[in-house]
Amino acid sequence: MLKAISKANVRTLSGLLQRFQSTLVVAEHTNETLTPITLSAITAASKLGGEVSCLVAGTNCAKVAEQLSQVDGVKKILVAQNDAYKGLLPEELTPLILATQEQFSFTHICAGASAFGKNLLPRVAAKLDVAPISDIVEIKSSDTFVRTIYAGNALSTVKCNEKIKVFTVRGTSFEPAAHGKGSATLEQVSSASHVGISEWLEQNLTKSDRPELTSAKAVVSGGRGLKSGENFKLLYDLADKLNAAVGASRAAVDAGYVPNDMQVGQTGKIVAPELYIAVGISGAIQHLAGMKDSKTIVAINKDPEAPIFQVADYGLVADLFKAVPEMIETLKK
Ligand code: FAD
Repeated sequence: MLKAISKANVRTLSGLLQRFQSTLVVAEHTNETLTPITLSAITAASKLGGEVSCLVAGTNCAKVAEQLSQVDGVKKILVAQNDAYKGLLPEELTPLILATQEQFSFTHICAGASAFGKNLLPRVAAKLDVAPISDIVEIKSSDTFVRTIYAGNALSTVKCNEKIKVFTVRGTSFEPAAHGKGSATLEQVSSASHVGISEWLEQNLTKSDRPELTSAKAVVSGGRGLKSGENFKLLYDLADKLNAAVGASRAAVDAGYVPNDMQVGQTGKIVAPELYIAVGISGAIQHLAGMKDSKTIVAINKDPEAPIFQVADYGLVADLFKAVPEMIETLKK
């Protein structure tokens, strides 16, 4: 016989279920500082209800663990320090996450949908024999998620029946969790045995005095319309006036105007600044995939039919070689 369940009972049931949720957020960091996408992953994890723990693995990562312990909504920080975690290689972190999972039995494991998270969590999921979900933009409930597909231009809602939900979250879709009010406990977890199949040797990062592209409040991006690498100087000058980062379309990167770490889009970086100024960029969907969540979009293009104008809040149909110097002059005043 079927029994009717009252709304109140449903609420109690979902409250009970939430109490049994526990999420592990795998922190991405440099040993010194936390990568902002981790704070977005914490916000996403908090939306699941239940307890949120963070795993900080590194070589000398006490400072990051300390920073994380003050982040709102985090209950516990699990710290694992070992030389093997240099460079945060997925080969080394996977056994650590599995050992941590064995000990704490989390219902969810997540990280930011950055190169780090996308490299690591599918490997963890495979070892746990569950299917991972990538690029989550909304948490509907503890087992139902909205994720982006096809270059961020389509959304799909998925219900996940796996025993452990393993997923990455899009940084631009969740506000970073706030610092300050948290008081998480710190707990050392024993690091798993050293796998040793790969060794991190070094990384060479481009040095820039400008803000970092993915965390800048303003971004000025240039496309093929700039016509040469030298002409990007115009955008650097404009960016300096706005304290902005400089990005580029793939066409500008492929043409050799600028290095590929400046590429915004489906196969580049995902940005969502307060202000995005697209200069000489047509607005192909693969470019929009990387910037359409920006709060205010300004487009400068000489072609009034350019698709970028469909997503722009402010559009200027003009020759960029005239418009950008005028903007710089105005900002100097
Ligand atoms: P164009 O499309 O050539 O546009 C140049 C624009 O500049 C035109 O609209 C023109 O009117 C304007 N212009 C020219 N001169 C001036 C002037 N003097 N003043 C003002 N405006 C002027 N693209 C990305 O950007 N990021 C990605 O991550 C990315 N990933 C991709 C992945 C795949 C699998 C594929 C197939 C493509 C990808 N692309 C990506 C490429 C994308 O499809 C476009 O080819 C690219 O974005 C075009 O770059 P663009 O707008 O600079 O060049």
